[in-house]
Amino acid sequence: MISRAKVHALFRRSISLTGSTSSRTTAATIQTNPFSSFHLPSFNSIEEEIDEASKRYENLISIEPTSDRGWGLVASQTFSEGDKVLTAKAVESVPRDSHSVQKDWDHHVRIDLPARFINHSCDANVGIQDNDFGAYDFFALRTIPEGEELAFCYETSENTISAFEECMCGAKNCRGSVGGFKKHGDELTERYGKYIASYLK
Ligand SMILES: [Zn+2]
Repeated sequence: MISRAKVHALFRRSISLTGSTSSRTTAATIQTNPFSSFHLPSFNSIEEEIDEASKRYENLISIEPTSDRGWGLVASQTFSEGDKVLTAKAVESVPRDSHSVQKDWDHHVRIDLPARFINHSCDANVGIQDNDFGAYDFFALRTIPEGEELAFCYETSENTISAFEECMCGAKNCRGSVGGFKKHGDELTERYGKYIASYLK
């Protein structure tokens, strides 16, 4: 990965979107964002892809610009611990790059929206489990109130992340670096339990 909006995610300070009223994403706001050029081949533009994803998750999740870079996903309703929050689908296998997600030791995929815009946190509120669509489902690890940004720990899917030595997710328990499961596996297993990519278990 580091993912989709990942580069930006890792270096972004954690922001509180709590209380943010639904600034529903529109094509107009998208055009002002410099991190929005990538879109899946099945769409003519990132605007089209975001619009389609927003419709599918209406009243559940909104795609919103974050305060200092990139995009993020925000809960549009309260989720309870254990709720499935969203499903990511693999859309193509790719060599590992900054937009890919790792599915197996030598298998990296591109995933669809809105999951592609989930940011990283060392204090994740959603966790992953492998699904039948070649990617991951995301589950609430605790109660997530409406308006809170969704974030998962990239190290629970990526075995190694070499591009980023420093994590600035802003979480109180930030590990300070994002090295991947290979580096923080024991701690991640203790913290996230079953919410880790199957190939890493
Ligand atoms: Zn961190």
